[in-house]
Amino acid sequence: MRIARFTSDDDQPRFGVIGERDGRSVLAVLTGDPLYAGIELSGQSLSLDDVRLLAPLIPRSKVVGIGRNYADHAAELGHDLPTEPLMFLKPNTSVVGPGDPIVHPATTGDLQWEAELAVVIGRICRDVPPDQAADVIVGYTVANDVTARDLQRSDDQWTRAKGYDTFCPLGPWIETDLDVSDLRVTTSLRGRDELRQDGRTSQLIFDVPTLVAHVSSVMTLLPGDVILTGTPAGVGRMVPGDEVSVSVEGIGTLTNPVLAA
Ligand code: MG
Repeated sequence: MRIARFTSDDDQPRFGVIGERDGRSVLAVLTGDPLYAGIELSGQSLSLDDVRLLAPLIPRSKVVGIGRNYADHAAELGHDLPTEPLMFLKPNTSVVGPGDPIVHPATTGDLQWEAELAVVIGRICRDVPPDQAADVIVGYTVANDVTARDLQRSDDQWTRAKGYDTFCPLGPWIETDLDVSDLRVTTSLRGRDELRQDGRTSQLIFDVPTLVAHVSSVMTLLPGDVILTGTPAGVGRMVPGDEVSVSVEGIGTLTNPVLAA
């Protein structure tokens, strides 16, 4: 099942389940937020073409990032492999949705994309064993863990480098039924033919159940919290005027323009 958050006529955000009717994509509108109210159909349906998709959720409390979780990415940045997951936080105010601009702060000269599989937590949980991680995951979406690489190097903490407004595009929807053990993860830029990132989740150093266990051993996870699983090799610089697309096989593609501050 694919769950989208959307607006029509710039009204209040609503949620819907994406389906097909007569060969067209339609949204079966839900009565409330499925993370808190469950899946309850309102009876209304809309064409997907007639709505604007928003970030599929705004995390109530946190986005947990995982650094250096692909060996080839750790190597391209000149780092040794981590012996346990390397965690950081992105504020929920950094989240934007499909098509929303990534605003390039004047403080960085090296704004970079990071395509990532994002895990959406569906239940309050703490100390989740890896073999029970699936019970607390409601689904998966695509993330761009936008990073000011120069500020990441100059600051001891990554809060600024990872935390500006618009630095966490999420979308285009939440896919609830997906085996994420071996999915292709890519980045492309408009007008540039070659893929800039092209990895697979099978290359994760710490897999999704291990990450859920590790993060939940430190902090309580709440419904709507998001864990970013790390990015493969091929990160690079974006400049205003670029349009960046990150994709995860089986979920979809998330595209955002880059604008000057
Ligand atoms: Mg990342």
